[in-house]
Amino acid sequence: MALEDDCIFCKIVSKEIPSTILWEDDDVLAFRDINPAAPHHFLVIPRKHIAKLSDADATDSELLGKLLFTAAAVAKKEGLEGYRVVINNGAKAGQTVWHIHLHVLGGRPLRWPPG
Ligand code: AMP
Repeated sequence: MALEDDCIFCKIVSKEIPSTILWEDDDVLAFRDINPAAPHHFLVIPRKHIAKLSDADATDSELLGKLLFTAAAVAKKEGLEGYRVVINNGAKAGQTVWHIHLHVLGGRPLRWPPG
């Protein structure tokens, strides 16, 4: 699986950087966000380096589905009922780490629309 040398989430995949992992399998990892924006805040990433959602192609469809399925399965394992799943795509949307990730946020009321 291609990993990028200077990608912090690839380093989490390879365990060069420690993280609190909630789930991992051959395709995906879920781990707690280091700077939580809610009482429950974890990230779901593919092992494969894809910089952002808009870089995914048709061959990634199954993997993208698995990210969502994993978000729901880990949320259930964490005892979350109401939660929000967010993907920031690009700097204008607030993306700061260039390895696609789903945020899963819960444990407090979440307003809509987000700011
Ligand atoms: P985004 O702004 O959508 O790119 O989100 C990046 C997220 O990654 C932020 O919520 C950060 O707190 C989180 N983050 C950055 N470095 C780490 C790390 N080493 N372990 C866990 N979460 C991290």
